[in-house]
Amino acid sequence: MNQFLTTPFIQSLRKNGSDMAMLILFFVAMAFTPRASQPEDALASKPNVIIILIDDAGYADFGFMGSKDLVTPNIDQLAAQSIQFTDAHVSATVCSPSRAGLLTGKYQQRFGYECNEGDGYTGMDTTQVLIAKRLLDNGYTTAAFGKWHLGFKPEQHPLKRGFEYYYGFLSGGRSYFYAPNKDDKAGSKNALLENHQPVKFDGYLTDVLADKAAAYIAQHKQQPFFMYWAPNAVHTPMQATQDDMNKFANHPRQKLAAMTFALDRAVGKIVSALKQQGLYENTLIFFLSDNGGAHNNQSSNFPLKGFKGNKFEAGHRIPFLMSWPKQFAGGNTFSKLTSSLDIFPTVLEAAGVPPTKTMGLDGISLLPFVQDKKNQSPHEWLVWRKDAAAAIRYQQFKMIRVKGLGERMYNLETDPGETTDLRLQHPHMFATLKTKLEEWEKDKMQPAWTEGAVWDTITLMIHDDLMNNREVRVKNPEELEKFELTNKPAGNRK
Ligand code: CA
Repeated sequence: MNQFLTTPFIQSLRKNGSDMAMLILFFVAMAFTPRASQPEDALASKPNVIIILIDDAGYADFGFMGSKDLVTPNIDQLAAQSIQFTDAHVSATVCSPSRAGLLTGKYQQRFGYECNEGDGYTGMDTTQVLIAKRLLDNGYTTAAFGKWHLGFKPEQHPLKRGFEYYYGFLSGGRSYFYAPNKDDKAGSKNALLENHQPVKFDGYLTDVLADKAAAYIAQHKQQPFFMYWAPNAVHTPMQATQDDMNKFANHPRQKLAAMTFALDRAVGKIVSALKQQGLYENTLIFFLSDNGGAHNNQSSNFPLKGFKGNKFEAGHRIPFLMSWPKQFAGGNTFSKLTSSLDIFPTVLEAAGVPPTKTMGLDGISLLPFVQDKKNQSPHEWLVWRKDAAAAIRYQQFKMIRVKGLGERMYNLETDPGETTDLRLQHPHMFATLKTKLEEWEKDKMQPAWTEGAVWDTITLMIHDDLMNNREVRVKNPEELEKFELTNKPAGNRK
């Protein structure tokens, strides 16, 4: 509808006036009013999109998630202006497949991307279309910052996957400071790159990634942009600036507190840059962590059970925010089941690119749920699987199934800490979940690679302990080696 025709003046004429007067006014209006049908105007009204993907953050480790000892004023401010999804999940409990799911909008098991990626593994199936490519093809300019962790091959590089600019590193982790003798040594897979070129940087990487993002925002205010901002914070190594460490002297989680404070400063810088450029209102921002808090970064997943890498809630239930001031009010929560897979179709809808069936997306746009305040659940069920360990969520029930260990079933509403197995009390529900999981598996591939015998053993032992409500015995290869030495029959010890 031509905007001019909707003004109160015209509406009053419509009520009272003649058809001829209306016709004349219509042509006058057509001549003078905005060129709404012209592509550049359509483009100008499209929102910018920023996905802020944090690494290994604890479920409880932001002020808006209830943290009392970590300081996150900027993220809390963003949360206050966002819809907060309180039953939100990523599609994997470790970094790499979680990113593969988010950026393709599909269960990553559809293309065998089930296990964590490292040098020498297959990595991203390049026949898959990433969200960046869809937006690039629809008038967006696109950029990725930070951790990639989706493959090292030239054809898997962000610049080959739909991003026009890249500033980050291809591996799963690296030093937060420039390290010419290690991560930034010539030929290192962890080197910081600008596009394809290794670069030197000054200062703390989280700050540098924020500075680069802010500069990008200032340079691209004329064209809608898609920014994937994925810092390695707060993944190991646990490194912070001296200033931030000093701020948290005597804090029981000093390093994490300092790293989180830097992360918060970075998010604040990005939001400020949007506001300075007048872009904040029409920018769709997502904020989430790629998986639950890890056992090795001082994170807290309270009150959830487990941690990064396992199928209990702390592995995949994450803080999740969505903000778009122009389109919906913030300050609300949405409590139904949502997934990181929903980001792709949500962004497409916001960008005016209707998702089609041929895209094969597993997510669903969240916009109708928050704009029309639909109280329905976007998903009837969600599934997780990484090699031997799988889980399925249906209504308030969740079943965990581990090859060699059997199953457990919990009621998350009455038992969010997943301690009481309900298979015997609810045999019908248990059978339903088993069947649904098997149905889900029918059109999924087997993992294109696995993580090797050592990690397989560790993952199995962790699940065994958690499924039996025991303290976890080993969490990494060093602990496994020690455990095996200690538990060998006396005669076999060297
Ligand atoms: Ca991670």
